[in-house]
Amino acid sequence: MEFRKLNELDLTNKKVLVRLDLNVPIKKGKITDDTRITAALPTLKYILERTHQVALMSHLGRPDGEVMPEYSLEPVGVRLAELLGVEVAFVRDYSEEPAEHVLNRLDKNQIILFENLRFHPGETKNNLDFARTLAQGFDCYVNDAFGTLHRAHASVAAVAELFPNEKRAAGLLVDREISVLSTIQKKPQAPFTVIMGGAKVSDKIGVVLNLLNHANYLLIGGAMAYTFLKYQGIDVGDSKVESDKMDLVASIYRNAEARRVEIILPEDHIAAEKFDANATPVAVDSKSIPRGLMGLDIGPKTIKRFSDIIALSKTVLWNGPMGVFEFDSFAKGTLKVAEAMAKCPGFTVIGGGDSVAAANKAGVAAKIDHISTGGGASLEFLEGQMLPGVKVLLK
Ligand code: AMP
Repeated sequence: MEFRKLNELDLTNKKVLVRLDLNVPIKKGKITDDTRITAALPTLKYILERTHQVALMSHLGRPDGEVMPEYSLEPVGVRLAELLGVEVAFVRDYSEEPAEHVLNRLDKNQIILFENLRFHPGETKNNLDFARTLAQGFDCYVNDAFGTLHRAHASVAAVAELFPNEKRAAGLLVDREISVLSTIQKKPQAPFTVIMGGAKVSDKIGVVLNLLNHANYLLIGGAMAYTFLKYQGIDVGDSKVESDKMDLVASIYRNAEARRVEIILPEDHIAAEKFDANATPVAVDSKSIPRGLMGLDIGPKTIKRFSDIIALSKTVLWNGPMGVFEFDSFAKGTLKVAEAMAKCPGFTVIGGGDSVAAANKAGVAAKIDHISTGGGASLEFLEGQMLPGVKVLLK
């Protein structure tokens, strides 16, 4: 896949429009996690070394085409100014009038940040007029918003297409994400272990089927595991099961068998009588779970088995928690998998908001080789789909 990279654009004194993913959590006007802002800095610094005429755009939350002050990007502008040491001119009203006018009046130490793109209905509708207003007056387009590449929204798709092909490029973050995920998808070093967890089989089926081509082990945890166990005729008590997804599980087993991939399911569990943060954890030392209990985490034997396989792997990809890690009593399996990934000498990749949060909570994020900034985008990419935001950057 040949997409244009940042170093292929001549940015010297050019007017550059940059799509970023600055969709950070904000509580009472305060940013509670600025990871996405700091992830954008290398690209911004690269561009600012070559030109000062730069405008940044991003979405924040889902205001659904309406102006909602709680979704304003203003606090993000303040943080960007601190981190970059430039003045950020915040432009609220760009939907009717091109930003060109503001751009021409910028001082050397000023950059533009547009207010939340999703305050305008044209953004999610990939509206061409809205895209034209955004793009007018700019020479080049850079997309470094990996987390939104799977969305055909105006700032991701229509805006890019308004620039000549040789004037649009991927930012450094998008470049790294795609190169890591392409390696995982096409030529991971063996043994390659895929760990899937989380709530639903249906959300992950496409990725699992695509990765079975190269995987050696598929470890399944989370609620997903109970659908797999049930498929094997094992009693899972009151655990969450997707009874209508048995055909998907059957197709995973068929494909795994044909490609000699070993599927490993939990062999013990931490269960509870009810789905509740204060429920009493009950250790269940068998694959099967008695009636009246639901599996909410993997047990110690499973943690050991999963950790041993992770330790011998040369490549590991993990997406989705091993249990209800939001409840402290049922978080251990997920945290232990994060720790095992951190210790693994092979190449480790984590995708998906929950698993990334778990790696942070376990304090091991720095020891993971690659943490994907976009859960949905990374899953769709690994399914083998051509993402709309990548398509427009192809040479
Ligand atoms: P996903 O978005 O598909 O990765 O699913 C994440 C959600 O799955 C988290 O909110 C977990 O609490 C939930 N989850 C994980 N394991 C279980 C389980 N055994 N039973 C119910 N929910 C679970």
